[in-house]
Amino acid sequence: MTSIDLDNVSKVYDPNGEAIEAVSDLDISIQDGEFLVFVGPSGCGKTTTLRAIAGLESITDGSIVFGGEDVTDARPRERGVAMVFQDYALYPHMTVRENIGFGLRLSSGLSEQEIERRVEETTEMLGIEDLLDDQPGELSGGQQQRVALGRAIVRDPSVFLLDEPLSNLDAKLRTDMRKEILRLQQELEVTAIYVTHDQTEAMAMGDRVAIMNHGRLQQIGPPEAVYLDPANKFVAGFLGSPSMNFLEASVESTDGTTTLEADGEFRHELPAGSVASSATEYDRVVVGIRPEDLEIVETGGVPVEVTVVEAMGDENVVYVDLGSTELTARIDSTVRLSRGDRIRIDFDSDDLYLFDPDTEAALE
Ligand code: ATP
Repeated sequence: MTSIDLDNVSKVYDPNGEAIEAVSDLDISIQDGEFLVFVGPSGCGKTTTLRAIAGLESITDGSIVFGGEDVTDARPRERGVAMVFQDYALYPHMTVRENIGFGLRLSSGLSEQEIERRVEETTEMLGIEDLLDDQPGELSGGQQQRVALGRAIVRDPSVFLLDEPLSNLDAKLRTDMRKEILRLQQELEVTAIYVTHDQTEAMAMGDRVAIMNHGRLQQIGPPEAVYLDPANKFVAGFLGSPSMNFLEASVESTDGTTTLEADGEFRHELPAGSVASSATEYDRVVVGIRPEDLEIVETGGVPVEVTVVEAMGDENVVYVDLGSTELTARIDSTVRLSRGDRIRIDFDSDDLYLFDPDTEAALE
């Protein structure tokens, strides 16, 4: 196992004299045996970061340290990493046996007998021992992905790097393979770094998730912690499905009472406490509320009109019109709702998130 430190890592691409800052000042310590997931929208710098850790991409600034040893200038094969890609990158004219053993035959110096033993052990671990003599073209997507994993595992790496490895699989298989990858990582006791744009996958798999945007780390922490306590509006909106609702509200403070008012559409008194006292420092704040925290009430709350109802099984995703804003709510499917219904919705003060309207940082 290997710990990995990224110390102020930056990467600027300069294709035609036009600098693109793909990664800026990334400072992360990944522990021995940890499963860390980088997540963020397309272009946020996840792949560049992973390729820099693998040594496939040079960095412009900072350093990369494996187990206390600076590997910033080390070549990929000197780093003891194995990488798995989205497109599997299998050799089409080789059998599964040849694909998995290829890297070892090329550079390990192991005997043919030892290579064969390791290939068989790996395929047993992945449950693909019956496919040893098949070629990739004869395999399903899930089987091909297992072979790609096998090719990485067989080299007994100390670091496992995975770049969107499940993107080409259908939804059911993706969920199965998530479990499989986690099982392998634990069994092999290897440090793993996983890149995905899918926040559900990130939350399901990571010991910690590192959320990136525009080349910068927005927040890092265990899934529940970043979900419950997002550092800023970007993280709050990125994690969770459907996304958190946001609306702007003015802050009124009179006689020790702090009230949020959203353009005449609702008024909400904040209970005395730290959030209320932070809010009083602002004229306006961005209010965030998750769809699962909105509820239907008989009286009180805010009157809204239902615009769309999406059936999701045990619950419905309900879109409601609140004057100039649309809100999304997750409502138990036993509540019968249709377009045009007029209902009242409410929420608990404890479930509100408030953000600075300029910096978008969460108010404590
Ligand atoms: P995706 O999920 O779409 O792959 P990503 O989060 O992995 O996105 P990167 O591929 O790391 O993001 O790209 C980060 C930024 O760097 C983007 O603006 C991208 O256009 C740019 N970039 C990536 N590779 C190169 C390259 N070889 N030359 C120039 N610019 C690049």
